[in-house]
Amino acid sequence: MLQEVHVGHKSLADYQSVVIKPLIEEIRSLAESLKGKRILHINATSFGGGVAEILYTLVPLMRDVGLDADWRVIMAPQEFYEATKVIHNCLQGSPAGLKQAQREVYEEQSRAATQSLGGSFDFIVVHDPQPLLLRHFAGDLGAKWIWRCHIDTSSPHRELADYLLPYIQLYDAAIFSIDKYIFSGLQIPVRIFMPAIDPLSTKNMALSPEDADYVVSQFGLEPGPPLLLQVSRFDPWKDPLGVIDAYKMVKKEFASVQLALVGSMATDDPEGWSFFTNTVEHAGDDSDVLILSNLNNVGNLEVNAFQSRADVVIQKSIREGFGLTVSEALWKIKPTIGGNVGGIPTQVQDGKTGFLVDSVEQCAERCMWLLDHPKEAREMGRAGKEHVRAHFLAPRLLRDYLKLFVEMEG
Ligand code: UDP
Repeated sequence: MLQEVHVGHKSLADYQSVVIKPLIEEIRSLAESLKGKRILHINATSFGGGVAEILYTLVPLMRDVGLDADWRVIMAPQEFYEATKVIHNCLQGSPAGLKQAQREVYEEQSRAATQSLGGSFDFIVVHDPQPLLLRHFAGDLGAKWIWRCHIDTSSPHRELADYLLPYIQLYDAAIFSIDKYIFSGLQIPVRIFMPAIDPLSTKNMALSPEDADYVVSQFGLEPGPPLLLQVSRFDPWKDPLGVIDAYKMVKKEFASVQLALVGSMATDDPEGWSFFTNTVEHAGDDSDVLILSNLNNVGNLEVNAFQSRADVVIQKSIREGFGLTVSEALWKIKPTIGGNVGGIPTQVQDGKTGFLVDSVEQCAERCMWLLDHPKEAREMGRAGKEHVRAHFLAPRLLRDYLKLFVEMEG
C-alpha cells in the first residue's frame, strides 16, 4: 500500500538570504504557469537516507510556490525490502542477482500498491527502484510519469538492468544525478539533476560552537581533542570499516584523536543492523570511538552538532549516488575527505574543498594533513561552503523540477 507522509511548512521567501535573487525570481516565474498542478512523489521510506531528506524540503517548497504536491511511501512486507535491497545493490554493481522468488515478491507488492494510488495527478515522480514498477501496474492514469534515480547506476548488474529497462521505458522522462549513470539503451527523455540540501533545516542551520559542543558532549565526546566524523547509514558501500582503519592509523600520530560514526537505519534497509554489529566489532574496545545509531536518539539537530563540531568529515564511500552528507559537511565549513566515486567528486574538489581518496592509507594521510594544517583546512571549508551555495541548495533543485514540468507540459 501507499501511505501519505505529512510534511511541515516551508517558505521560499526564507531562502532569499542564502541563494541569489535571480534564482528565486526564476522559480516564481516558472511556478506561475504550474499553479494548482497536482504532483505526487513516491519513494520507499520517510526516514533515513537522502531521498527522504530531500522530499521533506522539496514537497513543502513545491506547495509554497502554488503546486498541489503530495508524498507517499510504499509500504510492504519485509520480503519486499529484501528484494529491493538486492535490486539496489545490483544497480550499484553487485554481482549477486535477484532470485526468481524475489522477483515475484517485487512484482506482486508493486501490483498491490497500485490499489491505493487514488486521486488524479498531473505528474507522478517515482524515486529509485523500489516503487519503479508502479507505472507498469497502474497504467498512465492520465499523469506524466517521471522516474528519478538517485543511485550510482554507472556499471549495473547487466541482467538486472535488462529486466528493469522495459519498466523504465514506460516513463515519460527519467532523472539521474550524473551523466554516466544514464542506463544504456534508455530511449526516453533524460535530465540530470544534482541533489541538494536544505540550508535552513534543523540539520543544516547555523549552530554556535558552544551549542555544538554541548550536544556532542552529551554523547561522551571530549570538547578539546580532534574529531573525525562519518555520518552514514551502516552499509558496506559507505565503508565505515575503512574509516575505522584510517582512524587507527591517524591515532598512532595523534594520540587524542576521536572518531564518531553516526548512522541511522533506514526502514527500507534490512541489512543495516547486521552490518552495524560488524562495524562495532571492527572498532574493538576503544573509548575514543563512538558509534551511534537510531537507538541513541540521534536526530537532525544531533547530526548538525556532530558535523559542526568535527575537525574533519569523511565520506569514504566505495559507491555513492551523490552523498548529501558531503554537502552538509561543506556547508558547515568542514574540509571533507571523500571516496573518489559517484557524486562525491562533484562536491569535493580535490585540494580545494577537501580531498578525494582511493584507499585507507590515503584517507589517513589526508586526515593527518588537515589536522596539522588548521588554517588551510578552514580555507578549504570556506571554499566548500561557497561551492555548495552555488550548486547544491534546495531552491536550485526546486527550479530544476519546475523547469522539467513546464517543458513536459509544453
Ligand atoms: N542521516 C541522518 N542520520 C544518520 C545518518 C544519515 O540524518 O544517522 C542523513 C544524512 O545527514 C543525509 C542522509 O541521511 O542527509 C543520507 O544521504 P546520502 O545521500 O548521504 O546517502 P544515502 O543514505 O541516501 O545513500
